[in-house]
Amino acid sequence: IVEARDVVLSFGETPALRGADISAAPGEILAVMGPSGSGKSTLLHCLAGILLPASGEIRFDGRRVDTMNETQRSTLRRDRFGFVFQFGQLVPELTAEENVALPLLLGGARRPAALTKARSWFERLGLGGLEHRRSGELSGGQAQRVALARSLVTAPEVLFADEPTGSLDSLTGEQVMDLLVTTAREQGTTVILVTHEPRVAAYADREVIVRDGRVNAYVPEGVGP
Ligand code: ATP
Ligand code: MG
Repeated sequence: IVEARDVVLSFGETPALRGADISAAPGEILAVMGPSGSGKSTLLHCLAGILLPASGEIRFDGRRVDTMNETQRSTLRRDRFGFVFQFGQLVPELTAEENVALPLLLGGARRPAALTKARSWFERLGLGGLEHRRSGELSGGQAQRVALARSLVTAPEVLFADEPTGSLDSLTGEQVMDLLVTTAREQGTTVILVTHEPRVAAYADREVIVRDGRVNAYVPEGVGP
């Protein structure tokens, strides 16, 4: 459903992607591992149509993303994709439920309907009672679950998650991953999950490794000739 072919991208003189190939099938949960600075976040941003490659092709659902204009790409991001990042993604001025309702409001939903839908997520994420808190009044794990609810409330076809458990302790991280994987399976959402934690990657159907701007299949140790 999402695919990058031979993608090259540099930041000034710094090469970030040097011919990266990756693809995820509909409903697949794909973990992207690899050392710091290897190009994982850059690759995610290319797949999501946030960054444009210097060369190579990005496809979503068979359509070229890298040749779309900015309006087409932002519509795609709003209507078909979800995002969850490591830090500071909630809007501090808004309550938790308003944060979750935000993508629905941006998509043109009416406020009462958006808030009702947003609230329905709190109980199932173990966040009941926190609807009216502002993000500064939530723990790291609670804020991350609110961010997860916000990324899933539009039932995106693809969820891009860049170190979604990065700032969490391992127990909270596992709770967030359980929720992410359970909800993705229910909704048939494809998940591209960047992580450096093997325990988090273990939730995925498949793992790939990014090294020096290229993507390699993950081969478990002790397997092979
Ligand atoms: P980490 O695990 O630390 O998050 P990463 O694999 O996500 O690393 P990227 O963020 O994709 O790595 O960065 C790839 C390369 O591009 C690095 O050398 C990085 O320094 C460089 N880079 C990333 N973003 C920028 C930017 N906005 N401006 C300049 N260089 C950048
Ligand atoms: Mg990164």
